[in-house]
Amino acid sequence: MTTELMTQLGYVVAAGLFIFGLKMLGSPATARRGNMISAVGMLVAIVSALLDQGIVDFTYIAAGMVVGGAIGAIAARAVAMTSMPEMVALFNGLGGAASLLVGWSALSADAAIFTLVTIVLSILIGGVTLTGSLIAWGKLSETIGSGAITFSGQQIVNSLVVLGIVGGAAMFCLNPTDPNWLYMVIGLSLLFGVMAVIPIGGADMPVVISLLNSYSGLAACAAGFAINNNALIVAGSLVGASGIILTQIMCKAMNRSLSNVLFSGFASVSTEETVVEGEIKPISVDDAYYVLEAATNVAIIPGYGMAVAQAQHVVKELTELLEKNGCEVNFGIHPVAGRMPGHMNVLLAEADVPYDQLLEMDEINPRMETVDVAIVIGANDVVNPAAREVESSPIYGMPVINVADARTVFVLKRSMASGFAGIENPLFYKDNTRMLFGDAKESIGGLVREFS
Ligand code: NDP
Repeated sequence: MTTELMTQLGYVVAAGLFIFGLKMLGSPATARRGNMISAVGMLVAIVSALLDQGIVDFTYIAAGMVVGGAIGAIAARAVAMTSMPEMVALFNGLGGAASLLVGWSALSADAAIFTLVTIVLSILIGGVTLTGSLIAWGKLSETIGSGAITFSGQQIVNSLVVLGIVGGAAMFCLNPTDPNWLYMVIGLSLLFGVMAVIPIGGADMPVVISLLNSYSGLAACAAGFAINNNALIVAGSLVGASGIILTQIMCKAMNRSLSNVLFSGFASVSTEETVVEGEIKPISVDDAYYVLEAATNVAIIPGYGMAVAQAQHVVKELTELLEKNGCEVNFGIHPVAGRMPGHMNVLLAEADVPYDQLLEMDEINPRMETVDVAIVIGANDVVNPAAREVESSPIYGMPVINVADARTVFVLKRSMASGFAGIENPLFYKDNTRMLFGDAKESIGGLVREFS
């Protein structure tokens, strides 16, 4: 078998493994294996690329893989589950940076116009992905505040940056030997990543995260064309396409169009305060236990606070005790609950909660009127009725889990602080809501002790 044939076969095998791996990521039951299979696919792709390029001395590559793999493994093990979304944002950014560098390295004096265009695209999309992801990381970790950052003249600045990128890219393609045009495109792309993400914040962040994920794939795809590598083209397209699908799902979950999310930060969003009526009614663990003991149908709505409290295992214990007591228990999962797509599913899968107990928002909402007690565990924005009731609210129109339709609502949180979107929640003041203040793990632990 010739090296050429082996290389191409390797690429086909790698592409097949990527596609199988991706398919398996669709269900929590097979996701781990899917991840493994994709990783093996990547190894096959790397070895094939080395053969393709005639690199027989693997020393530096192997050393790079060992060092990179070790850093990745240590970082993934050390990261707290609550910081996982930030880590995913950084991974996206590094993907963008890698594509930028690969595209740049493909530059040669005799490059054809097609190659020059793909180099520009990989640098442009890679650069935007890198700095955009760093800003997303800052917003998720709240290092720079989670809200939108806007200033007057922002649209003009953005238009000038875009014009500069288009002009610089055109000049670079016409004069590929003058590196200054390329430096200009690199600099402006990095700036554009910052400018594109700062005006988006609060409840719109899930769309940005999934879009950046898609960009990292598109950048890799462009880099694949630049260096003529089929495996990179396939892998990049898969990430790009799945990221776009995820973006669409997120937009649908928030009842917003993509352009509305991307550009509404530039428009004047009403900052009118939500006027709430009613009063806060706290409840103790003891009293909450008596209500739950009599319940026959309970819905649990988890949110970011469950991840912070790491309450998933004790929640599973409570579920089992309620079921033993003759109660039906379901979980209502909002698509943007937590800080990354699928965050709640991952946590509950870790605690071995059966998948058929997890109901999507559209499934749980029509049942809510038959629920005796809705237990909201560290969720806030995704159960905020202002999305339905307060037209001036920034989240107005976003579908939420209608917990207030249940007979009684228990909200488990530590204080009256707002959620990621930073807005008041009228749910806490409703007649049928009781606030169970405290760390969610401790509150649920108290309920478990009462039951057992
Ligand atoms: P929120 O951020 O709206 O609310 C979380 C709540 O958890 C807070 O009100 C907090 O209140 C409470 N909490 C925190 N720690 C604890 C604890 N130890 N015990 C009990 N409660 C705790 O979360 P949601 O899941 O409802 O909404 C997700 C938000 O994040 C949405 O706005 C979404 O758009 C955004 N987002 C989602 C992403 C995704 O992909 N899913 C990505 C980026 C942003 P207190 O401090 O009083 O305890």
